[in-house]
Amino acid sequence: MIIVKVGGSLGIDYDAISRDIAELWQVGQKLILVHGGSAETNRISEALGKPPKFVTSPSGYTSRFTDKETMEIFQMVYCGKMNKGIVERLQILDVNAVGLSGLDGRIFEGKHKDKVRSVENGKTKILRGDHTGKVEKINTQLINLLLDNGYLPVLTPPAASYKGIAINVDGDRAAAALAIALKADSLLLLSNVPGLLRDFPDEASLIKRIPANDVENYLEFAKDRMKKKVLGAAEAVAGGVGRVIFADARIENPLKNALNGKGTVVS
Ligand code: ADP
Repeated sequence: MIIVKVGGSLGIDYDAISRDIAELWQVGQKLILVHGGSAETNRISEALGKPPKFVTSPSGYTSRFTDKETMEIFQMVYCGKMNKGIVERLQILDVNAVGLSGLDGRIFEGKHKDKVRSVENGKTKILRGDHTGKVEKINTQLINLLLDNGYLPVLTPPAASYKGIAINVDGDRAAAALAIALKADSLLLLSNVPGLLRDFPDEASLIKRIPANDVENYLEFAKDRMKKKVLGAAEAVAGGVGRVIFADARIENPLKNALNGKGTVVS
């Protein structure tokens, strides 16, 4: 089983990803795609007159502040435009893809965090009304139902809270939880960088290999959102996933290159 998480950053080539997925799927490779949609959500939010708000926690993690209205826009883009765009690409390539959010059938479920600590101008504030959380539980039964009947799941945040409320969750860590629950051999985290860079944004500083028992020591190289990817990788290998590969989604054959070890391999 391979779990592929593709980000939502600018430059990602969804056509190339879909072509690789179709080729692997057609030779019988079990595969699930998880995707993001951050850049497009920012663009649509601006266009709707509701610019995105990002908060940085005291420990340095950045996340989208997701009030009720932001969640509506988030769902329009992630579950609508992005998800159906990918499903359509795969359907054209003869892959029977089914697009679902983590809310559907509670595929991704977790705790709702209504409050978030935000550092602004050196001061820590508490913001309420956030619809975020972290995936703690996976509905593997529904996933297996799809896979066993020949459907390729295309999954996206939001997740469901234990009360059934839509919550924004980190896609990389959701994919890591999915990979652990399904005992995946490989988790590919594809984005608009060649992998984890020692000296971001210098692409020549690519870190090629990270030993599984040492991932946390590489957190220092990751800035802002890359931190969650490294954290997701650490969780995945600790949870029994064979290997995690950070790789480039802007190139031709992004999956094949990643599976051949082009990128940062955590194992
Ligand atoms: P996506 O939405 O595509 O999953 P993110 O924006 O969450 O991706 O994370 C990838 C981004 O992390 C890159 O586009 C890059 O700007 C940033 N980044 C920060 N530090 C690093 C690093 N050390 N190596 C690679 N990318 C990094």
